[in-house]
Amino acid sequence: MDLQTPVGEARKSLKLYAKRLEKLGIYKLEDFLYHIPSRYEDYSIVSKINELQAGETVTIKATVKQIQNQYLSKWKTLQKAIVADETGEIEVTWFNQPFLTKTVKEGSSLSLSGTVHAFRNKLSLQSPDYEVVDGQKPTLHTARLVPVYSETKGVTSKWLRRQVYSLLQKHKTNITEYLPQTIIEKENLMELSEALSQIHFPDSLEMMQKAKNRLAFGELLTLQLAANSRRKKWDQELKSQPFTVTSYQNQIEQFFDKLPFNLTGAQKRAVTKIYKDLVSTKPMNRLLEGDVGSGKTVVAAIAMYLAYLNGYQSVLMAPTEILAQQHFNTISLMLFPFDAKIGLATGSRKIDVNDFDIMIGTHAVLSDKVNYKKLGLVIIDEQHRFGVQQRAFLRKKGEGPHLLTMTATPIPRTVALTLYGDLELSVLDELPKGRKNIKTWLVPPEKRQGAYSWIEQQIKETDSQAFIICPFVEESENMQTVKAATVEFERLQKDIFPNLKLGLLHGRMTAKQKDEELQKFKNKEFDILVSTPVVEVGIDIPNATIMMIEGAERFGLAQLHQLRGRVGRGEKQSYCLLFTETRSQDTYNRLKSLEKINQGAELAELDLSLRGPGQLYGTAQHGKWFLRFASFSDLPLIEKTKHDAEKLYQELDNYPLLKKKLQEIELKEISPD
Ligand code: ADP
Ligand code: MG
Repeated sequence: MDLQTPVGEARKSLKLYAKRLEKLGIYKLEDFLYHIPSRYEDYSIVSKINELQAGETVTIKATVKQIQNQYLSKWKTLQKAIVADETGEIEVTWFNQPFLTKTVKEGSSLSLSGTVHAFRNKLSLQSPDYEVVDGQKPTLHTARLVPVYSETKGVTSKWLRRQVYSLLQKHKTNITEYLPQTIIEKENLMELSEALSQIHFPDSLEMMQKAKNRLAFGELLTLQLAANSRRKKWDQELKSQPFTVTSYQNQIEQFFDKLPFNLTGAQKRAVTKIYKDLVSTKPMNRLLEGDVGSGKTVVAAIAMYLAYLNGYQSVLMAPTEILAQQHFNTISLMLFPFDAKIGLATGSRKIDVNDFDIMIGTHAVLSDKVNYKKLGLVIIDEQHRFGVQQRAFLRKKGEGPHLLTMTATPIPRTVALTLYGDLELSVLDELPKGRKNIKTWLVPPEKRQGAYSWIEQQIKETDSQAFIICPFVEESENMQTVKAATVEFERLQKDIFPNLKLGLLHGRMTAKQKDEELQKFKNKEFDILVSTPVVEVGIDIPNATIMMIEGAERFGLAQLHQLRGRVGRGEKQSYCLLFTETRSQDTYNRLKSLEKINQGAELAELDLSLRGPGQLYGTAQHGKWFLRFASFSDLPLIEKTKHDAEKLYQELDNYPLLKKKLQEIELKEISPD
């Protein structure tokens, strides 16, 4: 038996717990050690009984003089004990723990931790944490910094403490250090086994902090190594025919001449970078990040046009049918004067294309029916929705095709440095000229009725449309959320907007149903679309000018910003109305910042500092943005580990344990995301 043994197989008594522990992400014994305390109870001050003072949180070590059950009523019992040390005695009480008199006997030595109570000058301990002191064994639940864990039904912190402690006892010497000794010394880090002991059972707060630093360092370093490794693989294994740009100067100029606008500075910078990538023998691997409406499509179109001029096919993959259709329309229009053959591949359409220069579609572009002959460029819109495998599949269709991924998700700089360290990054941080900011208001509850009337009036007077977003009831789109949205939809239709036509969209609908509903909204068959937060990123409904969001406090700022980006795509002034029932001043201030800040990236950074990365986007989509020990706000540590990783990666063969650790991480990455 080692730390890799599945929990259920380790001991008979653990079998029962295996299912419950899965809820905490504990599958094998090692996972106990990485189930890190969420906080600590400070019971480290040990006092004599005659020194106790009312209100202080302390530990006493004492002998039980007497203990008994008292029956208060049918359902209530009281356990009352008198305990004493050499300085005095004190009364201790617990409620409803009748079994206690079986485990705690008169004459036994106890360690008791809790807050000292005073009643009419008499001191007592009420429901303290306790444990029977057993010879030389250290205490786990009292008289120290006591770890408190996230729990689940049938799994208490007290139980977890015992498991973790006994695992550390048995296996501490088998925990192998994977960091090179040189790094440990240079950075003055704690050894791994010591860090894991100290994070659970710290000798002091300083030691706990030191353990945390060590674990954070290890976490970031391995992430950085993984990025180095991905980059290296990309550079080595794939070779592409370089494109040329200079020979097509004229054609490129024509393309720009035909555009109804001039590129923004940010678009120009991205395009210049892309030219450089395309003429290299190393395939491009670039992430194009830009707020909704920042104009990523035209950048994609230029790249595809260049591929076409160079005699290569290109493919653009979008996450939904409606987005694919939208891209097909815009790109067809942009490239219309240049007779490139453009195909559309979506589930609901027959793929009628054997001979194309540019293929645009959903997952259907991966179908065998699409006949790639000379694929030179792959573009993926909203990259996080596609698995690693699908990306790999498309890349294999060509001979080392260039890859451009596009996203409207603002990625804080520290996250980009850590998780996307292998990608080149271009940011469109400038909206096209003349774009009106979306006027945003945080609407107080008493103005709700007024807001409804205003929405109705706007819709009628300016012939526009509105979204109303209901939040997830729990953390994801479950039945409850759908039900809540459905109830709200019915209420709004019947009581609030009987004179308007409303539609409903939620995540339990099939992709096809969703597309149909959105298409109807686009065709103005409804005035208002009531929706859960599934409203697809990138949907272009220029006639929609009002975005109303319920339960705004449940969203991250960046997520709210993305939602509000569904409007403001046309000529008309657009509005975003945020509703919240919360009374917390912090939440109010946080939401208020949306009235002033119009840049996704800035909002993402702000939310990162206010709430941490776990909360940034709310949904599981960004599960991999989860760090166990480190923080994305820790730029100095991120930079340091990046630097160390670059160096170590060159000498990885000297460090077999580190290499093995990296391979373990890579195995996890290959599984679909
Ligand atoms: P996103 O980055 O969200 O995909 P789009 O590419 O859909 O943005 O562009 C949004 C809108 O802005 C489109 O209607 C597009 O034609 C327009 N657009 C893009 N670039 C510019 C520009 N430089 N000046 C004016 N309008 C632009
Ligand atoms: Mg887009």
